[in-house]
Amino acid sequence: MSLKVYIGGKFVDKEDAKISVYDHGLLYGDGVFEGIRSYAGKVFRMKEHVDRLYESARAIHLVIPMTRDEMARAIEDTLAINNFTDAYIRLVVTRGAGSLGLDPRRTTDPQVIIITDSISLYPEEYYENGLAIITAGTIRNHPAALSPRIKSLNYLNNIMAKIEGTNAGCLEALMLNHSGYVAECTGDNIFIVKKGVIHTPSIDAGILDGITRQAVIDLATSLGIAVVERTMERHDILTADECFLTGTAAEVIPVTKLDGRPIGDGEVGPISRKLRSAYGKMVRGETV
Ligand code: PMP
Repeated sequence: MSLKVYIGGKFVDKEDAKISVYDHGLLYGDGVFEGIRSYAGKVFRMKEHVDRLYESARAIHLVIPMTRDEMARAIEDTLAINNFTDAYIRLVVTRGAGSLGLDPRRTTDPQVIIITDSISLYPEEYYENGLAIITAGTIRNHPAALSPRIKSLNYLNNIMAKIEGTNAGCLEALMLNHSGYVAECTGDNIFIVKKGVIHTPSIDAGILDGITRQAVIDLATSLGIAVVERTMERHDILTADECFLTGTAAEVIPVTKLDGRPIGDGEVGPISRKLRSAYGKMVRGETV
């Protein structure tokens, strides 16, 4: 049976899930999205993801044509119709179809799309041995140009950095902000461990307010590990004991090399390991 995709209140077969080429989401990247996961039949941090979607929409002056409760129900319904328990969920809201020209007033009917699919993770070996990443020359969007807090359909900033990573043989790339400080990776937030304390850039570094990031901060705190949100330099990563990334798809993944230089002793560290395992239990509703 074909996967069903939710578009504007209807379920259509994956092959028939189409929207207009005049949609400003396609023409101008005008829209917002979310990436969510469900584990063992339960959507992880549903409220946080739905809230972030509505905040992103608000920030771009887009009114989503349904309530947050209706959105949450539509997500559950899409999972149910596809018989998914463990899934990756992609919510997309486009500005809708309209005539050519940037003005959003040219559009009608924002499109709400919900795709549920199987999750594709980084290969297991990277969780065991750690990722090697590079520092991209592409800096993260200046918050006054397009705030990284908006999960918009215009992800070219991150894609440009991702291409640099890929060309260097890496699966992720570090992005600095307009002041030269550490921001985040192309699709993940970044953390280091130094002398038993976890450090991560604060939201005002110009980063996405990652939902996994916050979950990991809460988790570490509950495990008695101190977390500091602060301004970070690339130097802090190069001289860290451990480094790891967080994201909905990646969960908690260790980084053992930056720009060809080992981080700490170049092995996956104990705190990264502990948090990965605790996170895996938490998302499945097991006690940590
Ligand atoms: N930063 C960026 C740029 C992202 O796109 C994402 C989501 N893929 C993240 C961080 C991680 O956010 P979350 O934990 O909410 O998935």
